[in-house]
Amino acid sequence: MKKRLAVYPGSFDPTTYGHLDIIRRSLEVFDHLIIAVAGNAEKSGLFTFEERIDLIKALVGDDPRVTIETFKGLLVDYVVSRGARVIIRGLRAVSDFEYEFQLAQTNRAIHPEVETVFMMTSVPYVYLSSSVVKTVAGLGGPVDSFVPPPVQAALEKKFADRLPR
Ligand code: ADP
Repeated sequence: MKKRLAVYPGSFDPTTYGHLDIIRRSLEVFDHLIIAVAGNAEKSGLFTFEERIDLIKALVGDDPRVTIETFKGLLVDYVVSRGARVIIRGLRAVSDFEYEFQLAQTNRAIHPEVETVFMMTSVPYVYLSSSVVKTVAGLGGPVDSFVPPPVQAALEKKFADRLPR
Protein backbone atom coordinates (compact mmCIF):
# COMPACT_ATOMS: atom_id res chain seq x y z
CA MET A 1 0.00 0.00 0.00
CA LYS A 2 1.21 3.48 -0.81
CA LYS A 3 2.29 5.40 2.27
CA ARG A 4 0.53 8.68 2.84
CA LEU A 5 3.24 11.28 3.10
CA ALA A 6 2.95 14.93 4.11
CA VAL A 7 5.37 17.82 4.54
CA TYR A 8 4.99 20.20 7.48
CA PRO A 9 7.06 23.29 6.65
CA GLY A 10 7.84 26.23 8.89
CA SER A 11 10.42 28.37 10.59
CA PHE A 12 10.27 26.48 13.89
CA ASP A 13 12.22 29.30 15.57
CA PRO A 14 11.74 27.65 18.01
CA THR A 15 9.27 24.75 18.11
CA THR A 16 6.33 25.32 20.46
CA TYR A 17 3.57 23.14 21.89
CA GLY A 18 1.44 24.53 19.02
CA HIS A 19 3.79 22.98 16.44
CA LEU A 20 3.93 19.72 18.39
CA ASP A 21 0.14 19.56 18.45
CA ILE A 22 0.01 19.89 14.65
CA ILE A 23 2.74 17.24 14.30
CA ARG A 24 0.92 14.79 16.58
CA ARG A 25 -2.39 15.31 14.81
CA SER A 26 -0.82 15.06 11.34
CA LEU A 27 0.53 11.66 12.29
CA GLU A 28 -3.04 10.53 13.03
CA VAL A 29 -3.89 11.20 9.38
CA PHE A 30 -0.64 10.58 7.50
CA ASP A 31 1.76 7.63 7.69
CA HIS A 32 4.89 9.72 7.42
CA LEU A 33 5.64 13.37 8.07
CA ILE A 34 8.59 15.38 6.83
CA ILE A 35 9.16 18.34 9.14
CA ALA A 36 10.87 20.86 6.88
CA VAL A 37 12.67 23.83 8.38
CA ALA A 38 12.68 26.69 5.87
CA GLY A 39 16.31 27.53 5.31
CA ASN A 40 16.00 30.67 3.23
CA ALA A 41 18.36 33.27 4.59
CA GLU A 42 16.05 36.28 4.38
CA LYS A 43 14.04 35.22 7.41
CA SER A 44 16.84 35.17 9.91
CA GLY A 45 15.86 34.13 13.38
CA LEU A 46 17.00 33.57 16.93
CA PHE A 47 18.17 29.98 16.44
CA THR A 48 20.39 28.73 13.65
CA PHE A 49 18.87 26.15 11.30
CA GLU A 50 21.05 23.47 12.91
CA GLU A 51 19.81 24.43 16.38
CA ARG A 52 16.18 24.32 15.22
CA ILE A 53 16.70 20.88 13.66
CA ASP A 54 18.47 19.60 16.78
CA LEU A 55 15.59 20.77 18.98
CA ILE A 56 12.98 19.11 16.76
CA LYS A 57 15.09 15.93 16.82
CA ALA A 58 15.18 16.06 20.62
CA LEU A 59 11.38 16.33 20.66
CA VAL A 60 10.22 13.90 17.96
CA GLY A 61 13.40 12.43 16.47
CA ASP A 62 12.80 8.97 17.94
CA ASP A 63 9.59 8.54 15.97
CA PRO A 64 10.29 6.46 12.83
CA ARG A 65 7.31 8.12 11.12
CA VAL A 66 9.08 11.47 11.18
CA THR A 67 11.88 12.87 9.00
CA ILE A 68 13.42 16.22 9.89
CA GLU A 69 15.26 18.29 7.34
CA THR A 70 15.91 21.78 6.10
CA PHE A 71 15.10 23.05 2.61
CA LYS A 72 16.02 26.02 0.48
CA GLY A 73 14.15 27.55 -2.42
CA LEU A 74 10.53 27.13 -3.37
CA LEU A 75 8.52 25.01 -0.94
CA VAL A 76 6.41 23.32 -3.63
CA ASP A 77 9.49 22.35 -5.64
CA TYR A 78 10.94 20.80 -2.52
CA VAL A 79 7.68 18.98 -1.73
CA VAL A 80 7.55 17.48 -5.23
CA SER A 81 11.25 16.53 -5.05
CA ARG A 82 10.50 14.52 -1.89
CA GLY A 83 7.68 12.64 -3.64
CA ALA A 84 4.99 14.26 -1.49
CA ARG A 85 1.67 15.78 -2.54
CA VAL A 86 0.48 17.32 0.71
CA ILE A 87 1.60 20.39 2.65
CA ILE A 88 0.36 20.72 6.23
CA ARG A 89 -0.18 24.18 7.69
CA GLY A 90 -1.69 25.22 10.99
CA LEU A 91 -4.33 27.92 11.39
CA ARG A 92 -4.70 29.91 14.57
CA ALA A 93 -6.77 33.09 14.61
CA VAL A 94 -8.45 34.57 11.54
CA SER A 95 -5.32 36.71 11.13
CA ASP A 96 -3.45 33.65 9.81
CA PHE A 97 -6.00 33.14 7.06
CA GLU A 98 -5.10 35.91 4.61
CA TYR A 99 -1.42 34.97 4.45
CA GLU A 100 -2.04 31.23 4.35
CA PHE A 101 -4.70 31.63 1.65
CA GLN A 102 -2.28 33.60 -0.53
CA LEU A 103 0.50 31.08 0.07
CA ALA A 104 -1.71 28.10 -0.75
CA GLN A 105 -3.03 29.71 -3.94
CA THR A 106 0.48 30.62 -5.08
CA ASN A 107 1.74 27.13 -4.38
CA ARG A 108 -1.20 25.65 -6.28
CA ALA A 109 -0.50 27.91 -9.27
CA ILE A 110 3.04 26.54 -9.42
CA HIS A 111 2.26 22.88 -8.71
CA PRO A 112 -1.50 22.16 -8.98
CA GLU A 113 -1.01 18.55 -7.90
CA VAL A 114 0.20 19.61 -4.45
CA GLU A 115 -2.60 20.12 -1.94
CA THR A 116 -2.35 22.26 1.20
CA VAL A 117 -4.16 20.78 4.19
CA PHE A 118 -4.98 23.08 7.11
CA MET A 119 -5.33 22.00 10.68
CA MET A 120 -7.12 24.26 13.13
CA THR A 121 -5.11 24.93 16.22
CA SER A 122 -6.16 23.34 19.48
CA VAL A 123 -7.73 25.95 21.74
CA PRO A 124 -4.90 26.20 24.30
CA TYR A 125 -2.48 27.19 21.52
CA VAL A 126 -4.61 29.71 19.67
CA TYR A 127 -2.41 32.69 20.58
CA LEU A 128 0.83 30.75 20.75
CA SER A 129 3.56 31.62 18.28
CA SER A 130 7.34 31.37 18.20
CA SER A 131 7.48 35.18 18.25
CA VAL A 132 5.47 35.43 21.47
CA VAL A 133 7.71 32.80 23.06
CA LYS A 134 10.86 34.70 22.04
CA THR A 135 9.48 37.97 23.38
CA VAL A 136 8.51 36.49 26.75
CA ALA A 137 11.74 34.50 27.12
CA GLY A 138 13.80 37.52 26.10
CA LEU A 139 12.26 39.51 28.94
CA GLY A 140 12.94 36.73 31.43
CA GLY A 141 9.33 35.56 31.66
CA PRO A 142 8.12 31.96 32.10
CA VAL A 143 7.64 29.95 28.91
CA ASP A 144 7.06 26.49 30.39
CA SER A 145 3.41 26.47 29.27
CA PHE A 146 4.43 27.39 25.70
CA VAL A 147 7.40 25.16 24.90
CA PRO A 148 8.69 21.75 26.05
CA PRO A 149 11.69 21.57 28.45
CA PRO A 150 14.47 21.17 25.83
CA VAL A 151 13.28 24.34 24.06
CA GLN A 152 12.94 26.15 27.35
CA ALA A 153 16.55 25.25 28.22
CA ALA A 154 17.76 26.39 24.79
CA LEU A 155 15.94 29.72 25.18
CA GLU A 156 17.39 30.26 28.63
CA LYS A 157 20.86 29.59 27.26
CA LYS A 158 20.32 31.93 24.30
CA PHE A 159 19.12 34.79 26.45
CA ALA A 160 21.38 34.23 29.47
CA ASP A 161 23.96 36.77 28.33
CA ARG A 162 21.43 39.29 27.10
CA LEU A 163 19.23 39.81 30.16
CA PRO A 164 19.71 43.00 32.12
CA ARG A 165 21.32 42.35 35.48
P1 ADP B 1 6.18 30.15 9.19
O1 ADP B 1 7.24 31.21 9.20
O2 ADP B 1 6.20 29.29 7.97
O3 ADP B 1 4.81 30.65 9.52
P2 ADP B 1 6.14 28.92 11.82
O4 ADP B 1 7.16 28.02 12.45
O5 ADP B 1 5.79 30.17 12.53
O6 ADP B 1 6.65 29.16 10.35
O7 ADP B 1 4.79 28.10 11.63
C1 ADP B 1 4.77 26.91 10.88
C2 ADP B 1 3.34 26.43 10.76
O8 ADP B 1 2.87 26.04 12.05
C3 ADP B 1 2.37 27.48 10.25
O9 ADP B 1 1.41 26.85 9.42
C4 ADP B 1 1.72 28.00 11.50
O10 ADP B 1 0.42 28.50 11.24
C5 ADP B 1 1.67 26.73 12.33
N1 ADP B 1 1.61 27.04 13.75
C6 ADP B 1 2.52 27.71 14.51
N2 ADP B 1 2.08 27.84 15.78
C7 ADP B 1 0.85 27.25 15.83
C8 ADP B 1 -0.14 27.07 16.84
N3 ADP B 1 0.02 27.58 18.07
N4 ADP B 1 -1.26 26.39 16.52
C9 ADP B 1 -1.43 25.94 15.26
N5 ADP B 1 -0.56 26.08 14.26
C10 ADP B 1 0.58 26.72 14.53
